[in-house]
Amino acid sequence: MISTLTKPKRLYQEIGLTLYEELRQSRFAVGDRLPPERDIAERLGVSRAVVREALIMLELMELVEIRKGSGIYLIKQPSEDTSDNKLESSLDTDDAGPFEMMQARQLLESHVAEFAATQATKKDIVKMRDALELEKQNIDVLDHKHAGDKLFHFAIAEATQNSVLVDLVKDLWERRENSPMWKQLHSHITDQAYRKKWLIDHEKILSAIQQKKPDAARLAMWRHLENVKDTLLMLSEHQDPSFDGYLFSSNPVQI
Ligand SMILES: [Zn+2]
Repeated sequence: MISTLTKPKRLYQEIGLTLYEELRQSRFAVGDRLPPERDIAERLGVSRAVVREALIMLELMELVEIRKGSGIYLIKQPSEDTSDNKLESSLDTDDAGPFEMMQARQLLESHVAEFAATQATKKDIVKMRDALELEKQNIDVLDHKHAGDKLFHFAIAEATQNSVLVDLVKDLWERRENSPMWKQLHSHITDQAYRKKWLIDHEKILSAIQQKKPDAARLAMWRHLENVKDTLLMLSEHQDPSFDGYLFSSNPVQI
């Protein structure tokens, strides 16, 4: 174990460091395919989402390459000495794992939507409708900025009439936009069909808020962000498209 390194703050960093150490001690050669993600998850006793995040970290360090439909390949041997700058900066960053971030959003925004259903004014509803109109246009012209999606989620937060909740929702969104881990995850995603599915999710959320149904709004937002998580995981999958969904079983949430 390298003792001079920064102590990992996030679970994916801990797992990333463990995998790094294992690669240093293993007989894997450059070009070799590494064990499947599922095996790593089972062996280390963590969810596949965390393993995926750890692999993204190693990918950003240019040690492994995740090839769609094929697997994870070693493209560079980890450094033999104790001063690997890339490892140090991967451990020193405050960047949260993309799936951990999604889980935080899901917990926060489902309750934000619930409260919004009790507080929303006519003006808020108009703002949400406008955001969905913009989202439709974004999808039609294959605009990748997701401006309508963002405005829709912000409009829901604003409908709570609580500026702290608005700040929290915006903060999580901005973290994502500035996250190298998030960008790396997205670089694996080429398909755009999922955006139409998310638009339907958004319409369900709007309808529940408009009808002033807090429980339905919470559930609709929860399901929407569950769909987003599943889609991100599936679309960035490198070897097992028939994934069985046990991913979040380590953190089941009853609603
Ligand atoms: Zn959305």
